[in-house]
Amino acid sequence: MIDNEIKAACKMINTSKDTLILTGAGISTESGIPDFRSPNTGLWEKIDPMEALSTSVLLNNPRKFYEEGFKLLTDMKDVKPNKGHIALAEMEEMGFIKGIITQNIDNLHQKAGSKIIYEVHGDTRSGRCTSCNNQVELNNLVEQVKREVIPPKCNRCGGILRPNVVMFGDQLPKDFNIAWDLVQNCELLIVVGSSLSVAPVSYLPQMASRLIIINLGSTPFDRQADIVIKERAGDALDKIVNELKKGT
Ligand code: NAD
Repeated sequence: MIDNEIKAACKMINTSKDTLILTGAGISTESGIPDFRSPNTGLWEKIDPMEALSTSVLLNNPRKFYEEGFKLLTDMKDVKPNKGHIALAEMEEMGFIKGIITQNIDNLHQKAGSKIIYEVHGDTRSGRCTSCNNQVELNNLVEQVKREVIPPKCNRCGGILRPNVVMFGDQLPKDFNIAWDLVQNCELLIVVGSSLSVAPVSYLPQMASRLIIINLGSTPFDRQADIVIKERAGDALDKIVNELKKGT
């Protein structure tokens, strides 16, 4: 059953001249980073990320932000990519995909060797000053928090530093506008490990001519998709890449 879907997906990938990938937190659960919405293990069961990672908490209760939300971000630092990330890097190298649009902020696509990555929810490599927009390395924030300087301060103007991740209440970076245009013109979008419930990223699948979804849970786009593969992302992508290597 699953194997027929994998074969059908490979056929679609082989015939498409313009394929994009859209990843979410589900591709990184196999690396040990919890997603938001998986039953029992999702972060939502333990804390409310909408609160812990929001600009209003950062500005009104920075200690809470830096002790709860910020820790979620720094916990991702030493995590390694899994076979799903590696399969996607191989697919790019072999010329099957034109790039990855990711909602993730864990740097795992970069670590796996992918080159063209649109980070629509920001990254955990850098930060900025909320007053003068001075750009700094995330390590600057980490070091200050370690020394109990909470909130960490900008060395240029003394303003509050924040990570460059998109938090609840923030605008999306320009990578999102690029992703929007690319999806509008692509032939095939493959969604991997996303519940597709976070707007405005959740508007992207309906713009794609063809859609494949690889996700353990259901999504609002399963009916619209050409192929739905309900399997672990690492296993499914590994099989796909091996089939593509065989030329099938
Ligand atoms: P989500 O938590 O809403 O959904 C994750 C989906 O992945 C679920 O439907 C789940 O069934 C599925 N899933 C879990 N493990 C899987 C696996 N091994 N194989 C296949 N599917 C699997 O995640 P989302 O849609 O990305 O939205 C959550 C938001 O949280 C995003 O904005 C993202 O930026 C952020 N987030 C990022 C990380 C990260 O960077 N790794 C982690 C947690 C949350």
